[in-house]
Amino acid sequence: MKANLLIHTLLLFIVVELSAQSRIIRTGSVPGYLTLKCDFHMHTIFSDGEVWPLVRVDEAVQEGLDVIAITDHIEYQPHREQVSVDHNAAWDLAFEYACRKNILLIHGTEITRKMPPGHFNALFLTDASALTDTSFLEVIRTAVEQGAIIFYNHPGWKGQQPDGVPRLYEVHRQLIRLGWLHGFEIYNYDEFYPDVMQWALDNNLTMFCNSDIHSPVETEYPSRKGKHRPLTLVFASEKNEPSLREALLAHRTLSWFQDTLAGIRELAAPFFTSSIKLEGPYYQDEKYRYFVLKNLTDMPFYLVRKGTGDAPEKINLPENSYVNLKIGKDSGDTVHYQVTNIRVEPDQFLDYEMIFR
Ligand code: ZN
Repeated sequence: MKANLLIHTLLLFIVVELSAQSRIIRTGSVPGYLTLKCDFHMHTIFSDGEVWPLVRVDEAVQEGLDVIAITDHIEYQPHREQVSVDHNAAWDLAFEYACRKNILLIHGTEITRKMPPGHFNALFLTDASALTDTSFLEVIRTAVEQGAIIFYNHPGWKGQQPDGVPRLYEVHRQLIRLGWLHGFEIYNYDEFYPDVMQWALDNNLTMFCNSDIHSPVETEYPSRKGKHRPLTLVFASEKNEPSLREALLAHRTLSWFQDTLAGIRELAAPFFTSSIKLEGPYYQDEKYRYFVLKNLTDMPFYLVRKGTGDAPEKINLPENSYVNLKIGKDSGDTVHYQVTNIRVEPDQFLDYEMIFR
């Protein structure tokens, strides 16, 4: 009897565990690619984070992410008396667990030096423990030899740049010349660095947008308040490591932070187009035609009309919603808008031609 009860309890537990509910993040897309929702910067108790590595996987499952990288500091391990100092430990512990949960866990680390050069994340490592040389350039060389993708973290963080102004130092230019730097964090935790977005555009490098979370994710980005952690959206052919790598090297990312998207125009334009749907006209009178504009995603969009015309001057389109639009018959079929929460350059927003016919 007792054994039966135990078995039932275990079965119940297994069923509940497998069917635990997760969010689906609805986004636009870019033709030919999947939109992978990724966070490439986070910590566990194996450096200065507060959680066990498996918790990072569970959080990712719950939030509907596809890819995470645990990137504990090489040079800073405040819990070293309590836990292993093996730099691969977090990845070793969590990798199979992540596979079973359909999360792509990327083997990463954070190379953590004083300014300059500052902090760098290395992704797709084979052995993080080989990155302990005192020479920064030697460490980067070793990471590159392991096939790593390397990006410069939070370049405007006041812990590194007290005036908050990101700067490229000679060592950074050297990394770029050597082909050893693949990208920049244009957004970290709660900071956006417009200048760094410009660096990425100028040097043709990849833009990253990450949480750098140390505590449980819910404490910083509570879902009950409608918050989400910053995410790097990666446009990859498939959800696997080779495709992800290829996409990152080809700079196919958009950054999604707060209610803003940022990235190159060639990706932002189709992404936005696939996020909305214009239907109609569902009615006309003497002067006007009436249309429905739908937002099919979890991201709000804010549009402002460019120039004159008998069409709404502002369209606020909250996530998963629609608005009715009244368009003057004299306005012609095409109305120009600017999407003021999609940045395609630090100070430029996405232009969009809405065609009413
Ligand atoms: Zn970090």
